[in-house]
Amino acid sequence: MDNNIKIAIDGPTSAGKSTIAKLLAQKLKINYVDTGSMYRALTLKVLNNNIDPKSEEDVTSIADKTKIDYFENHIFLDGLCVDDKIRNELIDKNVSYVCQYRDVRKRLVSLQKEIASKSSVIMDGRDIGTVVLKDANYKFFLTASADVRAKRRYKEYLEKGLEVNFEDIKNDLIRRDDYDSHREVDPLVKASDAIEVNTDDKNIEETVELMLSYINGDK
Ligand code: C5P
Repeated sequence: MDNNIKIAIDGPTSAGKSTIAKLLAQKLKINYVDTGSMYRALTLKVLNNNIDPKSEEDVTSIADKTKIDYFENHIFLDGLCVDDKIRNELIDKNVSYVCQYRDVRKRLVSLQKEIASKSSVIMDGRDIGTVVLKDANYKFFLTASADVRAKRRYKEYLEKGLEVNFEDIKNDLIRRDDYDSHREVDPLVKASDAIEVNTDDKNIEETVELMLSYINGDK
């Protein structure tokens, strides 16, 4: 395997990207970067400051004054680790607005490119294969039906002890994917050279094995 390998994983919400990317990174002994956590951290800051996520001017202005870092699988907002504050329904509902603005994306994409330039990396997000790691060695596009994805997210939130409603979760992820796919800047779209993997009837191990077989050249 190349000793400076870049792997891009994109796809809709809750398709299993981060779980799979983490496992692949462990197996390949390379770094994993969760780019969604960066947009989530900025959304936390926007909400904490009572800023309207739909105001491009206000969001862009606070983004300019915000420091976001990603280090060893942890996300830092202005120097503080916010891992346990960014995965809840309130952030889910607002992140698609915050991440749609050109200047916000410019800053975070440039941070992601800088991180990727330092070592072998596997990144997951929405625009990794099309924008952040256009020249990635391997690009995957993970999909699954809305029902399967909503069930996964529902289970994840229940396990965390959060009070959630299945239909709300499902409707929100459909809305979010629609928003991400139709935004003007860096929309969610499968790169023409990405391998599409549908995870509806595959568990995590089977999906990881399939992806590894592409990376190892067995497929
Ligand atoms: O992957 P995750 O669901 O944590 O991402 C949260 C949100 O951040 C997505 O719904 C999407 O709106 C946005 N995002 C993005 N570009 C990325 C990663 C995430 O626009 N590269």
